[in-house]
Amino acid sequence: MGRMQVQQGDITRLAVDAIVNAANRSLLGGGGVDGAIHRAAGPELLAACKTLGGCETGEAKLTRGYRLPAAYVIHTVGPVWHGGDQGEPELLANCYRNSLALAAEKKLKRIAFPAISCGVYGYPADKAVTIAVREVAQALQAHEGVETVIFCCFGQEMAELYRAALAQG
Ligand code: ADP
Repeated sequence: MGRMQVQQGDITRLAVDAIVNAANRSLLGGGGVDGAIHRAAGPELLAACKTLGGCETGEAKLTRGYRLPAAYVIHTVGPVWHGGDQGEPELLANCYRNSLALAAEKKLKRIAFPAISCGVYGYPADKAVTIAVREVAQALQAHEGVETVIFCCFGQEMAELYRAALAQG
């Protein structure tokens, strides 16, 4: 199997080195995948996040995974979609780049991403998937220590978009 994989399901169940959280700039929890990660990780995660001083859009910060099966959580903040001419593509690309640079720095090997910005933040899924696959492919070339990236999709439609993008290579 390739270094990029697609899995359908709940990212909080994955026993990988790190799962990526599509957080907001406060890092103090929210809805969607962020809420699910905080519920599954327990209150220790919120306590750790409170010490981080928030996170700018496109940046990434690390905590432990606490009660999650994943050892670490990489918190990144995707852009809110405003039509695409407000820097959204570059900001979304930064999420993937910075998350994987952090993973490489910490010598983490297996990383799972949700579809950052594709929920409440409204990024069109097809456009986001193209960016995600392109950026992860580039980052995997730059960081040989990162072995596998899993695109963890809640829904089947999203999983199909990733599979199609990976098949296009
Ligand atoms: P954002 O605010 O960045 O748009 P959301 O959490 O609203 O983040 O949605 C991001 C993506 O994560 C969406 O495609 C959503 O379906 C998906 N998602 C929500 N919960 C989970 C989960 N537990 N595991 C994996 N993906 C999830």
